[in-house]
Amino acid sequence: MQQPSRATAPQPSAPLSSRRHPRVDDLLGQHPETLHSLVQGLGSPLHLMLPQVFTDNIRQFQRAFEQAPARGSLLFAKKANKADCLIQACCQAGIGVDVASVGELEKALGGGVPGRAIGVSGPEKSERLLELCLSHQCLLAIDSPSELQRLLHLARRREQQARLLLRYLPESQPQSRFGLNPQQSAQAIALCREHPRWLCLTGFSFHLGGYSSEQRAQTASQLLDLCVNTRAAGLEHCKRLNLGGGFAVQYVHPQAWARFLEQDHPSHYHGARTFSGFYPYGAPRATADALADILATPVDAAMSLAQKAERYAIELMIEPGRALLDQAGISVFRVQGVKDRDDGYALITVQGSSFSLSEQWFNSEFLPDPLLLPAEPRPAAPFVACVGGSTCLESDMLTWRKIRFDHPVRPGDLLVYLNTAGYQMDSNESPFHEARLPHKVVIELDGPSLRWKLDGLA
Ligand SMILES: *Cc1c(COP(=O)(O)O)cnc(C)c1O
Repeated sequence: MQQPSRATAPQPSAPLSSRRHPRVDDLLGQHPETLHSLVQGLGSPLHLMLPQVFTDNIRQFQRAFEQAPARGSLLFAKKANKADCLIQACCQAGIGVDVASVGELEKALGGGVPGRAIGVSGPEKSERLLELCLSHQCLLAIDSPSELQRLLHLARRREQQARLLLRYLPESQPQSRFGLNPQQSAQAIALCREHPRWLCLTGFSFHLGGYSSEQRAQTASQLLDLCVNTRAAGLEHCKRLNLGGGFAVQYVHPQAWARFLEQDHPSHYHGARTFSGFYPYGAPRATADALADILATPVDAAMSLAQKAERYAIELMIEPGRALLDQAGISVFRVQGVKDRDDGYALITVQGSSFSLSEQWFNSEFLPDPLLLPAEPRPAAPFVACVGGSTCLESDMLTWRKIRFDHPVRPGDLLVYLNTAGYQMDSNESPFHEARLPHKVVIELDGPSLRWKLDGLA
């Protein structure tokens, strides 16, 4: 069959419309002028944070624990977003925070999270981080035998007892660089038994890549057994199991995702660009549903994971990052120019760069379609375009995929990337080209009224 000429037949791919939380709908539908004036006043890109949605997500995870039923607690994995408003929301909701650096710990403590509600993970933590954990009685996830030795040494010298979990290297992920193998775990447990005055072993933790509920439940079940055995060996405080994060987020409808995967083709991208893989944007079971699935998974005979944890009086913890941020933020870029190309699609240049949309930096693309907010009303007409940043790098594309817009795009319009709070908006932001880092604005919606303030202001 003859290929249609590229000049006349641009190849947009199947649409991937973002799912939208009702509050995001309200914001976009009822306050478009506010968005335009915020970008006018504060610059592009501008990240809008919706802590009310974050709080809704916390409640949904808590409900999943209640309904299982299981005793469970939440820590927000702070690395997924740097906004201060999220730490305040954690305080108000009474949940903890998971951190992995001195800077993150300072932010959590400064934001009012009690030290005991802060989990500290990450490999070979610095001396200073370990000392701060001791002072503030944070819950440390120990990643290696040498780290445990250093902690023991510090705790003894400072005469402060350490609260800790042992991070376990799951058998299903032997290639992971994190966690203790069975032999190292046994040695670590023995060390905690020798030095109960300085090392208080409160349980185990793990964190799996991938999104298999079955795998999480089976790993958790195995560690519940280890908890029980460790307690029987005399470590009476060993009654916690941290299942880590890694709860999927459903960015687009699963059917739209399946259709996209079926039809995906290099011709749908600028420069026929190909990628090594994509995040599973249309996960059928996500966020709190994924937790409910894990808790309900049968692990021993007819017992579910939740039942087993209850039976042995073990508290389950989770530390989601991405899933708590589902729909809790959007990123708005102003269109700076539109260049027509003779191969049938346009190149939009936005003010800002793909450093504010991190997926490109993992050799992948943030696939949900950006939304167009035209600066003024105009007649509908299909318009196919890709989106680049205002830098001098060929590779600085926010969207390589040819997107089909319902209206022509013009300078001054806004392009909105939805659901960017989890890892997209600030993990890789950079002052490249002497650009200043984008502002974050905290939005609160109350019926028809909207309140905003800059993030970080009291
Ligand atoms: C990154 C990380 C998390 C959060 O992962 P998400 O996929 O964002 O839920 C939780 N725990 C640990 C140890 C992590 O490294």
